[in-house]
Amino acid sequence: MKIICIGRNYADHAKEMNSAVPTVPMFFMKPDIALLRPGTPFFYPSFSKDIHYECEVVVKIDRVGKNIAERFAHKYYSEIGLGIDFTARDLQEECKKKGHPWEIAKSFEGSAAISKQFISVEGIDVNSLPFSMQQNGTVVQNGMTSDMIFTIDALISYISKFMTLKKGDLIYTGTPAGVGPIAIGDVLKGFYGEKEMFSVLVK
Ligand code: MG
Repeated sequence: MKIICIGRNYADHAKEMNSAVPTVPMFFMKPDIALLRPGTPFFYPSFSKDIHYECEVVVKIDRVGKNIAERFAHKYYSEIGLGIDFTARDLQEECKKKGHPWEIAKSFEGSAAISKQFISVEGIDVNSLPFSMQQNGTVVQNGMTSDMIFTIDALISYISKFMTLKKGDLIYTGTPAGVGPIAIGDVLKGFYGEKEMFSVLVK
């Protein structure tokens, strides 16, 4: 199972990170052991002093595909979840400065929180879906999938040029503005509209 994460897919987040808005999608990967099973606390790792949350819409691939045309991409998923791309921002800044890969900042154990439930995309417009995240009861991120620079279908098409997508692969589709640090004791809750999708305790 692969976990593929999109960087800078919302202009407002690219701006808050002082990053250029991309003209083609940018992606990186997390290993399977990065997946934080629903109901499991996130343990603040000792190697970072600045872990950030990034709430993201997660697409679950349910069919094998390679070189998928954008117009057929919708046939490769039927459910979406919601998750957090946990990021060691201090290590990421170092990686960026040195031109190093991002793995130590992005791909560590437990860095991909995922909702227990996935919702069916049947009858809903995945390109017009509101989602949000609360930190200790305060809304910190308010996203709308229509603000994605590259749509879910465009992302699937692009990624599948480079690697075969398989059933069970997860695509974290990027985060909107409002990312920020977490602290031990925090409770992070993600929502589609009013529907609670995940609740993660930071330990
Ligand atoms: Mg992210």
